[in-house]
Amino acid sequence: MTMIPMVDLQRQYEILKTDIDAAIFDVLNGGRFILGPAVLELEREIAAYHGTPFAVGVASGTDALLLALKACGIRSGDEVITTPFTFIATAEVISLLQAKPVFVDIRPETFNIDPDKIEEKITEKTKAIIPVHLFGHPADMDPLVTLCRKYHLKIIEDCAQAFGALYHGKPVGAFGDAGCFSFFPSKNLAAYGDGGMVIVRDEETAKQIKLLRNHGSEVKYYHKFPGYNSRLDEIQAAVIRVKLRRIDTFNEARRGNADIYRASIKRDDVILPLEIEGCRHVYHQFTIRSKNRDIIMRALANNHISSAIYYPVPLHRQEAFARRETTDEGPVLVNSEQCAAEVLSLPMFPELKKEEILHISDVINHAS
Ligand SMILES: *Cc1c(COP(=O)(O)O)cnc(C)c1O
Repeated sequence: MTMIPMVDLQRQYEILKTDIDAAIFDVLNGGRFILGPAVLELEREIAAYHGTPFAVGVASGTDALLLALKACGIRSGDEVITTPFTFIATAEVISLLQAKPVFVDIRPETFNIDPDKIEEKITEKTKAIIPVHLFGHPADMDPLVTLCRKYHLKIIEDCAQAFGALYHGKPVGAFGDAGCFSFFPSKNLAAYGDGGMVIVRDEETAKQIKLLRNHGSEVKYYHKFPGYNSRLDEIQAAVIRVKLRRIDTFNEARRGNADIYRASIKRDDVILPLEIEGCRHVYHQFTIRSKNRDIIMRALANNHISSAIYYPVPLHRQEAFARRETTDEGPVLVNSEQCAAEVLSLPMFPELKKEEILHISDVINHAS
C-alpha cells in the first residue's frame, strides 16, 4: 500500500523534468551562480505578476520578512502587530530586531488576523502590521489598509503560503509596503531548496533591501552599513522561473481539488475551509476543523494517508514568546487556541488525483 503524502514533489518534477533540467544546466553552463541573470529575470517577472515596480530575491521567506521589516525602519522597542496562528518565522523576525510582537486573535472562518481586533492593540510604539495570508486565503486587507493609513503604520504582508491568491482581484503582496514570499520546497511556488522574494512599491525600500541582502554593499568591497548574506540562489531562481510560468494552472488545480474535497467530505463534526466572497483562495493547505480531530487523524494514518496539524501551538503560547507577555498566563486569544486544538490539514498539491481525494474523504467519512 503506497502512502498518500501531504505533498508529492516527485510527481511535479516528472512533469516538468525537461524544462527544469534544462534550466539548471543553463546556469551550470553560464557560470554565474550569485545574483546572475536568472535572479534578475525572476525579479522582473514576479514584480510584473504583481503589478509592483520592484522585487528583490533573498535567501528565504524568513529573510524576506526580516529584511523587509528592517528596510521599513522597524527597530528596538517598536511594536509590530501580527497573528499568533502562523508559522513562527512571522513573529520571530520581529523579536530578532529587538521589537515586540503583539498578537491579535484570528477569525476562525479564514484563520487570518481579525481586523476588528487590531485597533485596541495599537499604541504609540506600534510601527507595523504583518498580516499572514494563511493556507492560501487572503487576509481581509481593506479594513487593514484603512487602519494603517489612519495610524501611519507599515504593512508587511506574509505571503509565504499564498502566491497568486487574490483579494478583490488584486494579488496578495501588492497591498502593503512589502510583500514577502517563500520558495521553500513545499510552498505553492517552490524551489528545490531555500529561497524568498520581497515585492515593494517604493524605490528607496527596494534599494535598502538590495543592500541588506548583500552585506550593505552596492559596489563590491564598499559597504554602507553591516548587512547580511541573504541572496536568492541562481540555480533556485532558474527552477522557480520554470514553475512561475505554470503557477496559475497549479493554483487552479489546487482549487479544483478543494472542490472535490468539499463535495465529498460529509460529516456533521467537520468544518470545511471556505472562500470569502471577493477572495481567490489558492489552497496551499486544505485545512478542516473538527472536535474529533484525533479520531480522523488516526483513521487516516491507519489507511496510509498523511495529515498534519498546522499549527498545534499558537505563537503567544510558545516558549519563545509567552514569557514576554504581560500577565502570568499570557493573553487569551480564544479563536487561535480553539483552531490550534481542532485544525487538520489534508494532502493537497496540484497533481493529487481525484480518486485519491475521494478515498481520503471516504476514510474521513467513516472514521470512528
Ligand atoms: C514558510 C513560511 C515562512 C518562512 O519561509 P522560509 O522560506 O521557510 O524561511 C514564513 N511565514 C509563513 C506563514 C510560512 O509558511
